[in-house]
Amino acid sequence: MHPADIVLATGNPGKRAEFQALLSGLQLELHPLDPSVPECPEPFGTFVENALAKARHASTHTGKPALADDSGLCVRALGGAPGVVSARYAAQQGQAPLPRAEQDARNNELLLQRLHGVGERRAHFVCVLVALRHAQDPEPLIAHGWLHGHVAAAVAGDGGFGYDPLFVLPQRGLTLAQLDPAEKNRISHRARAAAQMAQLLEAFWGVAPSAQHQAI
Ligand code: IMP
Repeated sequence: MHPADIVLATGNPGKRAEFQALLSGLQLELHPLDPSVPECPEPFGTFVENALAKARHASTHTGKPALADDSGLCVRALGGAPGVVSARYAAQQGQAPLPRAEQDARNNELLLQRLHGVGERRAHFVCVLVALRHAQDPEPLIAHGWLHGHVAAAVAGDGGFGYDPLFVLPQRGLTLAQLDPAEKNRISHRARAAAQMAQLLEAFWGVAPSAQHQAI
């Protein structure tokens, strides 16, 4: 049995490795997107639309089945913001991209400002995964994963990335930036979406479980 070949719609090698590990229960090989493929616009207001656009774009340019993800932080008191603009929440229109750590720090600062004096701090991370067999596939597979918590009053911890220093896991009393990365990776919105996607890939595309999983 050959592993299923699927292109992951990202140029980020770390993300490819993370999803390959999260989907290790299946006989599936995630291929990186060739750097010659132009960047896909993500103009939509929902995670699912952006992930679908990225999967379709990758499939169009490679002729292969594609998997794409979109994720971000949604804060209840802010009507779901920063949402799909999580990565560039504090960026000004037309501003040149900043180094990631600097952009992350500004995003966290802006989030604290927006929640100044707000008692309702509940928030969640969401990851949406979309898989397409080909660019015109009328039946995309769609999986969601969530991680629930709340926004701290100040940043804490120096691990992780993005909003990790502000995102508190109530059951641990720690921010994600204070948590062991292995623990975060086990419970993350990405891990949960990948687990759901693995079930869909097996059920609808017939992707076989990997040998070690069959043995369990
Ligand atoms: P992406 O879609 O995975 O690139 O995520 C978009 C943005 O959401 C990131 O740049 C972060 O600001 C935020 N984000 C997504 N996942 C996480 C996480 O696990 N921790 C902290 N921030 C995250």
